[in-house]
Amino acid sequence: MPKLIPGLTLCLALAPWVHPTVAAEAGHHAHWSYSGAEGPTHWADLDPAYAACAAGFAQSPVDVSGALDATLPPLVIDYQGLGQDVVNNGHTIQVNVAPGSTLTLDGRTFTLKQFHFHTPSEDKMNGESFAMEGHLVHADPEGHLAVISVLYRLGAENPVIAQVWNAMPERTDTPAAPPAPIDPAALLPTDKGYFRFDGSLTTPPCTEGVRWIVLKAPMTVSQSQVDRLTAAMHGANSRPVQPVNARVIVR
Ligand SMILES: [Zn+2]
Repeated sequence: MPKLIPGLTLCLALAPWVHPTVAAEAGHHAHWSYSGAEGPTHWADLDPAYAACAAGFAQSPVDVSGALDATLPPLVIDYQGLGQDVVNNGHTIQVNVAPGSTLTLDGRTFTLKQFHFHTPSEDKMNGESFAMEGHLVHADPEGHLAVISVLYRLGAENPVIAQVWNAMPERTDTPAAPPAPIDPAALLPTDKGYFRFDGSLTTPPCTEGVRWIVLKAPMTVSQSQVDRLTAAMHGANSRPVQPVNARVIVR
């Protein structure tokens, strides 16, 4: 079992709006969900550790629109580590990745820790929602986070998601090993053009300081694959879009 990143539900000893760090051990924080009294509009009220969910000014997800043209360098991705186990943590289906996959950004080396899925998409693109969104979560040695987001339209079955769903455990927090290791590189589109902006975890404690990279080229997922995730989560598992405020989105 991974000790570093239990889902995106990082628990922080410091104020949650400072730089996110990778907690060594999960603390005991309030239960939260995607609907009702424990839903997104109530997260900040559930636990003082979740204050940033309401008080933050750079929250995720967002509607990615009005991007400014910048000379963004090509993404430097070198994925060697493979997905080793699949976890249903009650908030998402997550694949924990063996060490060895890196994203180099801002002169820092971020290592891919895990990837997981939301339905419908959390981020939007010019107001458009997508059927699903994948988040590839990377951390540097100091615990700074960088997330690569892949958006999925309805269409052909996605072969990597098929691999993940085949290993999807029924019970929460019981990891299951897929029949064959899952290659995270196969999750990414060939065209790796991207939008970039600062944001937060999209789950409590909604910690800010996360580098977000949303890939412009959507991939496809089948309706039955979306339905499988919805069933496993007992509904949608997406936080609504948050105000962009003073942030700049570049492309
Ligand atoms: Zn996510």
